[in-house]
Amino acid sequence: MKKVLVMGAGQLARMMALAGAPLNLQVLAYDVNTDSVVHPVTQQQFPMTLTEAVADADVVTSEFEHIPYPVQQVCQASGKFFPNSTAIKAGGDRRQEKQLLDAAGVANAGYRIVSTEAEFQSAIAALGLPLVLKSALAGYDGKGQWRLKQAEDAAAIWADIKSFMAGADHALPQAIVAEQFIRFDREVSLVGARNAKGETVVYPLTENHHVNGVLAVSLALPGQQQLQQQAKQMFDAIAAKLDYVGVLALEFFQVGDQLLVNEIAPRVHNSGHWTQQGADTCQFENHLRAVCGLPLGSTALVRPTVMVNILGEDFVDPAVLALPSCHLHWYGKGKRAGRKMGHINISGSTVAELAARFVALCQHLPEPGFPEVAEVAAKLA
Ligand code: ATP
Ligand code: MG
Ligand code: MG
Repeated sequence: MKKVLVMGAGQLARMMALAGAPLNLQVLAYDVNTDSVVHPVTQQQFPMTLTEAVADADVVTSEFEHIPYPVQQVCQASGKFFPNSTAIKAGGDRRQEKQLLDAAGVANAGYRIVSTEAEFQSAIAALGLPLVLKSALAGYDGKGQWRLKQAEDAAAIWADIKSFMAGADHALPQAIVAEQFIRFDREVSLVGARNAKGETVVYPLTENHHVNGVLAVSLALPGQQQLQQQAKQMFDAIAAKLDYVGVLALEFFQVGDQLLVNEIAPRVHNSGHWTQQGADTCQFENHLRAVCGLPLGSTALVRPTVMVNILGEDFVDPAVLALPSCHLHWYGKGKRAGRKMGHINISGSTVAELAARFVALCQHLPEPGFPEVAEVAAKLA
């Protein structure tokens, strides 16, 4: 039995552990918040330090990009950390991320790195308005972001950014990435895996819908040849630049038939949860296969699937399980407003069948928690 140690003890580590069991992989998690080692499903505690846990593992990996640098250093020094620390840092620091996208030659929103008011003013002059301003560090679920629509708001927003940077608890120097606002037609993502030999496999592009900056619904449907090729090329370019091993996710803005990379996630990704029911091999298994040196599994879409996030709710009517091809995945977390508590995957053998089932599912979802879901259902039908 191989032992895999995951940095981070949230739902992604939990789903890795569930996917790893049939392959005889034991997955443990290091919780960076509590400095403890736990089993991500049973929550059983293991009395080990980080150094001991890393030494004990065959492979070390990660479920999130905001791992403190000293922890990453311990992992990287072990020689068994996949993906490597450079990739994790590129996902956790938008300055490094943007430089990576440019170095890989992939299209992305025009930007300037800003740490002073003078730089803020020259970014506005160079890029024009509207602008999206993003904290370089620690951003997720749309947190640490500002929108600048008109010049007269610049001073107030800069004041806000300055106090945000002053209050941020981070060992690294703060900065903002000022980005051109992209009027996209839709948002899609590509989840794929690369192994140590440099072989890559990618899942079909997934269409994503956000509510208040948080992913609410993902759709995995067949088709989209041209876009898929474009996305795969960008995936290969970025993954090769990083000498990446594991699952990597790319988020895109689609403008006409062009893709721009919004950001990368050096890990399994929420927009890939549909693969648990909709793909030949799920993203969690493929991540483990990649980091453990096992052959990569087929990423083929076996049936159209929609994933719905359960945000801030700890109850969903169990009647949803009576719907055909409907699966509930709870994360075992305490209830908190807006928190990702679980997700639902629903599939059909055709898009039409999926649409009908999805509409039926929507009847069971708590109204205020799922504002956009019904809209997506109407679009599918
Ligand atoms: P995640 O939880 O996906 O990691 P995040 O906090 O890292 O989110 P982004 O993905 O960069 O943030 O931005 C959140 C959302 O804001 C995007 O999905 C998109 O809808 C919108 N957005 C971000 N950047 C831009 C942009 N340059 N132009 C238009 N919309 C944008
Ligand atoms: Mg992000
Ligand atoms: Mg994002």
